[in-house]
Parts: sequence; C-alpha cells; structure tokens
Amino acid sequence: MTLTPHFPESGWSDDDADFDRKHIWHPYTSMSNPLPVYPVASAQGAILTLEDGRELVDGMSSWWAAIHGYNHPVLNEAVTTQLSQMSHVMFGGITHSPAVALCRRLVAITPAPLECVFLADSGSVAVEVALKMALQYWQARGEKRHRFVTPRHGYHGDTFGAMSVCDPENSMHDLWQGYLPNHLFADAPQCGFYDEWDSKDLTSMETLLAAHHRDVAAVILEPVVQGAGGMRFYHPQYLKGVRSLCDRYNILLIADEIATGFGRTGKLFACEQAGISPDIMCLGKAITGGYMTLSATLTTRHIADTISQGDAGCFMHGPTFMGNPLACATAVACIDLLLSGNWAERVAEIELQLKAALMPLKTRSGVRDVRVLGAIGVVETQKPVNMGELQRKFVDAGVWIRPFGRLIYLMPPYIITDEQLQKLTQAIDLVTSE
Ligand code: PMP
Repeated sequence: MTLTPHFPESGWSDDDADFDRKHIWHPYTSMSNPLPVYPVASAQGAILTLEDGRELVDGMSSWWAAIHGYNHPVLNEAVTTQLSQMSHVMFGGITHSPAVALCRRLVAITPAPLECVFLADSGSVAVEVALKMALQYWQARGEKRHRFVTPRHGYHGDTFGAMSVCDPENSMHDLWQGYLPNHLFADAPQCGFYDEWDSKDLTSMETLLAAHHRDVAAVILEPVVQGAGGMRFYHPQYLKGVRSLCDRYNILLIADEIATGFGRTGKLFACEQAGISPDIMCLGKAITGGYMTLSATLTTRHIADTISQGDAGCFMHGPTFMGNPLACATAVACIDLLLSGNWAERVAEIELQLKAALMPLKTRSGVRDVRVLGAIGVVETQKPVNMGELQRKFVDAGVWIRPFGRLIYLMPPYIITDEQLQKLTQAIDLVTSE
C-alpha cells in the first residue's frame, strides 16, 4: 500500500469510498455488509456539505453535540488561540488555565452542591467515573454496596460499566447479558412529561430500593429525557420522587445529563425541570460544542472528601487526555457563547415550531406517537424503520436525519433558522406520508 505523505489528498475518490467500506468500522455497523456512508467535505452553521456538493440541513447536531452549529468563529478562535499556546499536556501533577476556567464555570452553573469536577474524555467514561465514585464512596465508608438501580429504557454509553446500567432488553446491549454485573432495573416511568402525574410510576423503584437498599450504591438515570434508549420524555415528578427515595434510603443519585445538559430540554440542565440536585452529575456532548471530545463528572464536597479519606486516599482514575487544554478552551468558549446569548428563547421557539409541524403527524397510519420537548422532536413509528432506505430519502430531500429503531427524531443545533428547521420537519412529513 502506498501512503500519501501529506493530508489532505486530492479530493474524495471512488477509491476512498472503497477503502472506507472495506477497512473502516462505522458506529453500530456491519463490516461485511455495511450501510452506505455519506462523505462530508465541510460543515458551516447548520449545513453539512457532501463531497459531491449537495448541502444537507443538519437535524442531529452531530449526535447532539454541535449546539452552536459548525465552523463557529468564536469556537474556531478558542481552538486556534489555545493551539498556539499548547495543544496538550498531562494533567497529573500539572494544571492550566483552560481547565480551571472550565471547571469554574461548571461549578457555577450546575445545581448546588456539586462542586468537585473530574474531567474525562467521553460520555461513557464520565459514566464509568460516576459509577466508580459511588462505589468508592461506600467503600470508604466501610460499606460493601455494589449494585446500581436504574429505570428501564435508559442509555448510558457503550463501555462495560455504562452498558451494565443500560436497558437490559431494549438497548443494543441485550447481547451482553451474562457478561455484565447484575444490576437492578425498575419499571420505566410511564407518565409523559405533559401527562397528569400518577404516583404509581414510582412503585417499582420504591419496591426495589426498599428490598435492596443496603446493597445499592446509587440510582443512575437520565433526568426527564431517556435518549438513545427510546427518546422518552417522562414526568419531572418521577425525578423528584426518585430523589426523595434516594434520600429516604440513603442512596446516591447519579444524573446522566450527557444528552440533556446545556439547554436541550429548555432548562440549562434537565434536573432543573424537577428542581432537584443529584449527588453526581455527568456532562458530555454539548459541553464540547461538537469540537473535541470531553466530558465531566461533578460531585459534592462530602462525596469527594469521603472518597479521599478512604483507604485508597484518592480517586482511582486518571485518563491520559484528562483536562485536554484544546478541549477545555473550546468548552469554555462554548459555554460562554451559550450563556451570553438567548438560548432559552431560541430553544422555546424551536419547541413551538417542532410542535406545530410534527404534532399533526400523530394521526398518520404508520405513526405511533409524536412528542416534543425543548429542542427535541420525536416521531415514533409503528414498525422499525429501514434505516438505509430512509437515510437515502432524507439525503435526497436535502436533510441529515439519522433514525434508529422506530424513532425518527430531530435534535438540531440551536442556531438553526426557522426555514432550515422547516426543511427538516417537511422531510419527516414526506417520509411518514408514504
Ligand atoms: N449517556 C447518555 C445519556 C448518552 O446519550 C450518551 C451518548 N449517546 C452517553 C452517555 C455516552 O456518551 P459517549 O458516546 O460520548 O461515550
């Protein structure tokens, strides 16, 4: 094989497509019979430009991360300024102002009393860190608590600890039953975000905690929005109720805000929908502005001190790219850009437009449900979609929407224009009318 010494090579070729198909694994994709992939040449604002020149309106924010859109001048400047200082330096025994600036902001904007921040490199790792914090907390207190409780339909990532608290049947992780630690799964909440609250929703969680609380280190859940496990929006009262149960049984609460954090549901953090504070919170995705992989796990002083005063004397985790300065500097710019703008107003407007355009599809024959919360719009179909075929139809319609299972959904960047958003909803209208 000959390798070209300089990248970029001269444009995209059939040979590149062939190489990709033969040698490169894409997410959740067969290596022997891969679905087509669409080469993107550049991205600007809410537009992805394909190598063949076609422009697609982006409805996915690159798996919910690029909240400010692509190629944003403020984020670009943050990266290039930081690049001229240092791109990376180890975090063991060293610190730097991008990390301090980021953690200052995270402590200031997340619910009190979260104030100790662990920086990591992806959402899944933030979840591993959160689980480990909970385990180490109880270990330091001399209690052997090794189980987690979580509602069904959850999704927390693809690493083994995270997989062990994903939905055991409906997630892509049912394959791993028997290999994973045996945690406890409460019935998923049934009351939707806008439904009347029924306290029966908490019965299963309460029964599990009452029976097992001495073994349970923490409850882990996605606050209000269960994302990749079904795009379900549950009642904030459920979250409030779980917080109370955790308090009653002296169990920690881990809120995985990786998908919901930074405004997606209409509040800065989804925990605010229920007015609660978790003991541990995971952040990822939107914290990066879609630029460089980064995540954070926050906890309270009490938990951090307890862990630090245990036999280990420290928290046992430390990834190579912890606190990467480029990622931290970009995250600082991303958060400042969000907070200095009118994000809440914009998310509310997106919500209104999504409701007006998608709710009427509820009566379509192939549609089971339509739901909208903040800048998230979901059309659930009766039958699983043919992903490859639907993806092609969407690309032909000039939009980038990646459905999965029975879910066609939108999580657009907040900077999307009304016209661009209309193009996305019209494409969903089109494919569900057939
Ligand atoms: N938790 C939640 C709620 C998520 O939505 C995701 C990603 N979809 C993760 C964790 C895992 O994050 P990552 O893909 O960055 O590892």
